[in-house]
Amino acid sequence: MKNFFNTDDLRDIYDVVIVGAGPAGCTAGIYTVRDALSVLILEKHYPGGNVSTTETVENYPGIEEPISGSDLAQKFFSQAIRYGAQIRFGVCKKIEQIDSGLKLLTLDDGRTIKTKTVIIATGSRPKTLDVKGENQFIGRGISFCATCDGGFFKNKEIIVVGGGNSALEEGMYLTRFASKVTLIHRRKEFRASKIIQERALANNKIEFITPAIVTEVFGENKLEGVKIKNTETGHTETVKADGLFIFIGHVPNTDFLEGFVKLTKEGFISSNEDTITSVPGVFAAGDVRKKGLMQIVTAASDGAIAAKMAEKYIAEGL
Ligand code: NDP
Repeated sequence: MKNFFNTDDLRDIYDVVIVGAGPAGCTAGIYTVRDALSVLILEKHYPGGNVSTTETVENYPGIEEPISGSDLAQKFFSQAIRYGAQIRFGVCKKIEQIDSGLKLLTLDDGRTIKTKTVIIATGSRPKTLDVKGENQFIGRGISFCATCDGGFFKNKEIIVVGGGNSALEEGMYLTRFASKVTLIHRRKEFRASKIIQERALANNKIEFITPAIVTEVFGENKLEGVKIKNTETGHTETVKADGLFIFIGHVPNTDFLEGFVKLTKEGFISSNEDTITSVPGVFAAGDVRKKGLMQIVTAASDGAIAAKMAEKYIAEGL
């Protein structure tokens, strides 16, 4: 993997700059380099996006055996690099249109990059509960990643919040470490798929409390528990625990795009099925784009479509 950190060989103008190296960004990288375009992938932290922190993936077509999220992410990334995409680490702070339809990206350290097209694949970040005490205990008992932090809670009690696939799957994973997992969900019905619900409900290390919301997180120097409220009866109680894992969905990483590209009221990029956004030559792929099903396979699909759209846009002239 060459050209990782060296900034000397950056081009004056790229055909395509892809912002974000998750499944959508890497797939866009694979497809654009194979169309003989000059491609730079810009990544904030580490390649892989949210899939890197997923314990196991069992539903990516063609990967029959369960695979760890980080291994799958690494495969996406190495494939893009192997075919010739350049990668640089940096945070994109601003994108603007400049002369002749070119786009100018400004990074947080002041560097700038010019490109004919941009594929935005910045994904999303975990949603927080927005309750009293939460900010104080993030990283000191509160976590958004079971794979990263589960090991810190051997033989301890853990609370999981959420009722989707992530909450139930990660809750089950956490039973490997914890003496007990209490799963709190705001409705009686779960959003998670039936097969995952069945597995979680059959796990005797998980206690379910529904329908209930967390109203406060408390502790002295470290997290000690949460206060909850039953949404039907109004009954309140305290649940003690050493760890709190929050899996209640994600918010899109689009703060740097405000005023540049059209966003939905929830902050996702408005785009059509062809990943075309409100700005010509700018495409949106993956979880950053408003769409019906947010999965690794749909992110990868978006990446391929965005790549083809970028290629077509360049071929037809700026
Ligand atoms: P989801 O959006 O599917 O679920 C979020 C859960 O959090 C819902 O149960 C929701 O409740 C609850 N919730 C949302 N906001 C709050 C809040 N403020 N307070 C309390 N609870 C809240 O998110 P996931 O991260 O679970 O999954 C995201 C996507 O990834 C989904 O499409 C999912 O299917 C997919 N995924 C697939 C996996 C797989 O196939 N193996 C594994 C993990 C994720 P309510 O239901 O009441 O809205």
